[in-house]
Amino acid sequence: MTSKKCKCCGEERLISDYYRSSAFKSGRQATCIFCISLKKKNYHIENKDKISKQKKKDYIKNRQHYLKVAKKYRDNMKSGKYYVYYLPEEHYIGITDHPKGRISRHKYVGKITDCWEIVAEFDNPFDAVILEAEFHRRGYNGFQYIRE
Ligand SMILES: [Zn+2]
Repeated sequence: MTSKKCKCCGEERLISDYYRSSAFKSGRQATCIFCISLKKKNYHIENKDKISKQKKKDYIKNRQHYLKVAKKYRDNMKSGKYYVYYLPEEHYIGITDHPKGRISRHKYVGKITDCWEIVAEFDNPFDAVILEAEFHRRGYNGFQYIRE
């Protein structure tokens, strides 16, 4: 047998146009490689559409939740607290008014944030900066606000 008919497109094709498969008596798949690659392509296109539809559905379904999270974030920003935090693995001291957001940003850029902790809490940023500078003078890593 040097050729066979594709089950999918019905074309008579060379046996080399079919993938090997022990599941078939002929030793080759019933569907030609052209049909298979077309199917794969369609699958990806369909899947992409499906995924974006799912995301949209998820957003509509959980819209209230997302809005609540956004509001909480804004409220936190308004709380006016300034935190000095420490990343032990990086020996890093920093200041933020939104610790969770800042830590996740550190993590995102590749810093090790395991066991991070808040060292101190302040009502104004100046005290926080002074404490941070003190840590940095003692050799801790971090963004330098004050240069000697
Ligand atoms: Zn075919």
